[in-house]
Amino acid sequence: MGISDKQKAHIKKLNANQKGENNRYWKGDKASYKAIHQWVRSHLSKPEFCTKCNINPSREVANIDGKYSRDLTTWAWMCRSCHLRMDNVATKAWITKKGRIQPSD
Ligand SMILES: [Zn+2]
Repeated sequence: MGISDKQKAHIKKLNANQKGENNRYWKGDKASYKAIHQWVRSHLSKPEFCTKCNINPSREVANIDGKYSRDLTTWAWMCRSCHLRMDNVATKAWITKKGRIQPSD
């Protein structure tokens, strides 16, 4: 199984775009979400095991309060499954909160 020349050219074009004109999208929500994750990953010391279940190896940084701020106390290293579970709960809580009180941001 290989990649055709056409696909290669397409990938090359995509990569070139990311370095060039698409940089203007860097300030978008997706980019800042990714950037803050990367920042936390490099600043929050990584334990061997998931801070939630203490069974699986820690693999991902998870935001606890749903604010995605650079406050390291609102982040924790978790395994994939705990992270997914917590993200679902956090998203629901966030929506409820937004629905009840006036958004401050
Ligand atoms: Zn876990």
